[in-house]
Formats: sequence, structure tokens, C-alpha cells
Amino acid sequence: MKSIFLLVFLLCFAFQSIAQVSLPERYHTYAEIIAELDSLQIVYPDYVFVDSIGVTKTDSIPIWAVKLSDNAAIDEDEAAVLYVGQCHAEEVLGVEITMYMINEILNHMYQNPYAIWLSELEIWFIPTINPEGLQVVMDDWDISFRKTKRDNNYNGIFDFEPGPGDDIDGVDPNRNYSYNWVHGDTLYDQGGEERYDYYRGPYPFSEGGTTAIKELAEEQNFLYSINWHSSRTGNFSEKVFYSWEWDGVKRPPDFDYNKIIGETVAGLIETEDGTGYYEPSPSRGRKGNAQDWFYAKHGTVQLLIECGTENLQPNAALVDDTCERCKLGAYWLMNRALGYQTDASLLTGHITDAGTGLPIVAEVYIDDHDVIYLEPRRSDEIYGRYWRLLSPGTYSVTYRKKGYKDTTLTNVTINNSGWTIKNIALEPLQEITVTGSIHNNGSPI
Ligand SMILES: [Zn+2]
Repeated sequence: MKSIFLLVFLLCFAFQSIAQVSLPERYHTYAEIIAELDSLQIVYPDYVFVDSIGVTKTDSIPIWAVKLSDNAAIDEDEAAVLYVGQCHAEEVLGVEITMYMINEILNHMYQNPYAIWLSELEIWFIPTINPEGLQVVMDDWDISFRKTKRDNNYNGIFDFEPGPGDDIDGVDPNRNYSYNWVHGDTLYDQGGEERYDYYRGPYPFSEGGTTAIKELAEEQNFLYSINWHSSRTGNFSEKVFYSWEWDGVKRPPDFDYNKIIGETVAGLIETEDGTGYYEPSPSRGRKGNAQDWFYAKHGTVQLLIECGTENLQPNAALVDDTCERCKLGAYWLMNRALGYQTDASLLTGHITDAGTGLPIVAEVYIDDHDVIYLEPRRSDEIYGRYWRLLSPGTYSVTYRKKGYKDTTLTNVTINNSGWTIKNIALEPLQEITVTGSIHNNGSPI
């Protein structure tokens, strides 16, 4: 009998020890995320579309995205926004913010602005792009794990060290995008010092999560996006980063636009201590991160928001409080995309073949805004729809595609009051055949 009491005591003690390092129940496990998304899709089949957009590289765990929109299963001709909850494993607050937003939008679907967003936008959420890292955290293996589980030393074992850093395996998903990936951290620096925690991966998009994002972004042409993070050191807590300012001077051509978006979102999110608001800042790192890639490749204004404080995994009440405050910045982006109760300031329209009337993929070129280090901005394949986020002003816009005559519109006026819409039909060039022969010193070659 005595030994049973001892056993019970030891078991209680063991559970208590585990409970001390566990995250509160409030946090979603991977299984709970899927179960909740699936049940929402059953309740709201017309408004919720759940889709697996890839798998993790090491454990082959599906990465789930959910789209909220009317006719959710169809890719409609609507502006799209993207909210990514988590890429760094320990930064679990972002998972909660995305799940919170999903539930709140659906719970209020007949009220404005929620109804307008669902009707006119395609709202994408990815609660986690790093489910294998999330499991390391939620299963209490290491609640301060950061990366994916890539087997860097090929020993067939997941090598990690509980506590921040020093994890031999894994890739930092926010160093794994192709844009400036080359400047990211290698496994070892030149002195042989290990830099595991920020390892960029063996090649760009080596990880399942980043590949999934890349493919979704190529399909969707997102206007605005947020990537939620939290700052372990607290040095970057409660900040909103936009693209970019390198070496204190190097700014992209849309810097002023990105800045307004970053500043407005930051100004809507109150700090945890209630003394002020989140601080906007241009991003200064140049190491394969998501937000610079989104802007450079797709013209998407993606903000990296470091939510919460250095208390990365706060209690349930503080989770809800953080979601309540952060959602206000996130929601404003949807109003901004539509110009609903706020400024819009963008150029959009459809590009078609003047002969067939069918949509075409064509470049939308704007002097001083299209520079060599940015990908040309193009219309999409399905609808020929293009989007350009532009500050108010007057622009000269050239629409062009190989095999078509260029069309230039001068004096296109963009203003804050709403979308500027220009639909363009490009004239196909006449096909001609050129024949002849080529000679060198009288002999054909
Ligand atoms: Zn992070």
C-alpha cells in the first residue's frame, strides 16, 4: 500500500514537472488546428476552403492553408491577402492570432466589415508553415526550438538541445527564401563557429514550408500580407517591419508606400503595457527572409510583425489579449485592399488579347518603379488581372508582351479615394516570315 502511495506521489510529481515546461492548453497543437479548420469547413462549406499546400521535408507533415471567401473553393477575380501565423517553431502566438481571426470573421460573417471582406476578398491563412517544428514545441521536447527538423548531419537522428539555440539539426525558415539567400548564415562561419540557429538551409526553398508559400504566392498575387513572429530576446518585440532600408540608405522604389502601410498597421496595435503602440521600422536584414522576397518577386507588401514581448508563450488570458490588439492592424489591411472606410491608392485592371478578347499574362511597366532587382509585375493567367500598389500621383504605364504592340498610358492618375481601373487590350503583332541565306566570303554558312 505504501509503495502505491509512493508511486502515485512520484507520478504526480512527474506530471507536475512536465506541466511546468508545457505550454498552456490554450495553444493549438497541430492536430487541433486541423480539427478546427475541418469543422469550420463543414459548418461554412461555401466560405471556408481548406487545402494542403505542401508537406514538410523531414517528417512529411501536410501544411494547411485555409481560404475564407464567398465561393471559397473557386479562384475568383478578387484581391487576395495572406496571413502566416508561424514559421519559427517557438513563436506560437502567431498561430493563435490567425486562428482567432478565422473564427471571428466567420462568427460575424453577416456584419460589416466582415461581410464585405468575405464578398470581395480572398483571405488566406496559414496557421503554421513549420508544423514539424510546432510539434517539437507542443510535445515539450524543446519549447524554445526555432527551426525545421532537417537532418543537417545526415545521421538519421533529430539532434536538438533543449533551450534556445545549439540545435544541430534544422533550417531557419525565414532565411530560406531565394531573395538574398546567399547572404544568410551557413552552418559554420569562416572561423568554424557553429551558427545553427539561423542556418539558411542547403539551397533556397529547401524546406517544405517555404516551398509551399512560394507556390501559393505564384498562384495568388497577394496584395498585402503579414508574417507573425515574436522576439525571443525582446529586442525586436512589438515592432512592425516593412521592406526595406539596407546600409541606412538603400531603399526600394516603393519604399514610401511600404512605409505608410507599416506605419499605419503599427499605429493600430497597442502595446501590451498599454503605454503606446507598436513601432514601425524598415527591415535591415538582408538574409533570405520572407517579406523582402514577397515584395521583390510579387510586389506584395508583406509586414513582419513581432507580436507580444520576450514572454513568447504567455498565459491564456494574455494570448487572448494579444489577439485582440493585433487583429486591429491585420484587419485594416483588408479595408486598405478594398478602400473600405480608408484609402486605397492602387492601379488595377485586366489585360486581354485585342483579337480574341482572352486574358493574357503581360508586363505592367512603370518608370522608376520597375528596377532591375525587382521581378517584372504581371497580370495573372486566369483573368488577366494585374495589381500595382502605388502612392497618389501621376504615372506613365506601359503594358507589354512579346508578340504584341506596346501600349503606353501617360498621365495615369492614382489617388487615395479608390482604385484606379485601366483595362487594356493589347494588339497582336502581324506575324511575318523572313527568308534569306547567310554567306561568308561568297560561301553559304
Ligand atoms: Zn521569428
